[in-house]
Amino acid sequence: MTTRNSTKKSPDLPITSDYSHVVLVHYHEVGLKGRNRSYFEKLLQKNISQRLASVFNGRTPRVQRVSGRLLILVESSQTAVRAALVAADIPGVVRVSMGLRLAQDLDIICPAALSLMDDCEPFFSFKVNSRRSNTDFPIDSMQLNRLVGGWLDERLPGKKVQMQSPDVTLHLEMVEGVSFIYTQSLAGIGGLPVGSAGKVVALLSAGIDSPVAAWRLLRRGASVIGLHFSGRPESTDTSEYLVRQIAEQLEAYGGLDSLAIVAFGSYQRLIAQSVAPSLRVVFYRRLMLAVAEALARREGAKALVTGESLGQVASQTLDNILATGAVATLPVLRPLIALDKLEIITQAERIGTFAISSQTHDDCCTLFMPRNPETHAKLQVVEKAWQQLPIDEWLTAIMADMEFVALRSLAEPK
Ligand code: ATP
Ligand code: MG
Repeated sequence: MTTRNSTKKSPDLPITSDYSHVVLVHYHEVGLKGRNRSYFEKLLQKNISQRLASVFNGRTPRVQRVSGRLLILVESSQTAVRAALVAADIPGVVRVSMGLRLAQDLDIICPAALSLMDDCEPFFSFKVNSRRSNTDFPIDSMQLNRLVGGWLDERLPGKKVQMQSPDVTLHLEMVEGVSFIYTQSLAGIGGLPVGSAGKVVALLSAGIDSPVAAWRLLRRGASVIGLHFSGRPESTDTSEYLVRQIAEQLEAYGGLDSLAIVAFGSYQRLIAQSVAPSLRVVFYRRLMLAVAEALARREGAKALVTGESLGQVASQTLDNILATGAVATLPVLRPLIALDKLEIITQAERIGTFAISSQTHDDCCTLFMPRNPETHAKLQVVEKAWQQLPIDEWLTAIMADMEFVALRSLAEPK
């Protein structure tokens, strides 16, 4: 989430005419998809519905498509706020607005608008911003602004109409035979619906960076298979618990497709026995990428994702990135490569993974760590030593023993 405005509830209206509480979901890139637009809209609708279903136990609000936006039908203003907070975190959503659906009748719209404005107190200036998505309503948007604005102005003594940066904007939208009004919106996370951009395998440690990298790919619409290497049996399985918690946290953003876990400790021991100490970490990483690629090929994923950031640690110099990345034939996506650690931490805090990643755990990469790891590995030297190892045999065994965590059960409503 970027910024959130106030989430004050709208009032229980004194009017008895037919109105209902709604959340309007606005998207941007999804709307630019030309002939594929309907596919993207349906996917976004499905993703929001699924998330609402897991957060709202029973009585899940329904999600409908109306021209150019989605509509969440809710039973009260409180439910509107809850549903809006859920929808704002779903990739593809740019903004959510909490308001009312009404008949296209100014005698109903005006008092309802006044009621929404009352809930915005204190404020001093306001304006009405109308939109008519088709011409089935006889009054155009300029006239609507004047009519509704004038009506409100008469009933709001001490407030003034102001076009530039008013304290409150009453939005009025005429769409498909009904009208929507709202004053309150939240920023969404943007991006594209999860599942619209193909599949990737994200190498997910319990550290700070890789959950942010996976989140960035989710936000761009990828289906993300998480892959974690634990030091088990050479170290404890605490990192596995943390990665499960990270996966649970990512549910709010569309969630991982699945989470695979590899007990990597024995292979690290084998590497430590066969490779120069300074190159151990490079070899751990190469084997991780080779496993990720085998999983990707099996699952139809077309890229690998890491949380590497240039120069952040010894293993992330350009030389070492070259020496490890060369093992993969699929593209290796590194969405954090040019971010500073503080920027990554800020993002990890926003998406709620920082607190999980900050817990102490056994990181498999520190197993059998030499005092001076190589910071400028030579690709040729690495590849020559790599060929001496029974990699295919290891890969077959690792793939056979790979464990999968059932994710949707983690996403059960709390
Ligand atoms: P992170 O915070 O993501 O662990 P880091 O700064 O600790 O990153 P490294 O430990 O060098 O950096 O790891 C670089 C990348 O390699 C990670 O971002 C992650 O994608 C992958 N990686 C490292 N360790 C593991 C692991 N145990 N399981 C899965 N992937 C890992
Ligand atoms: Mg790490």
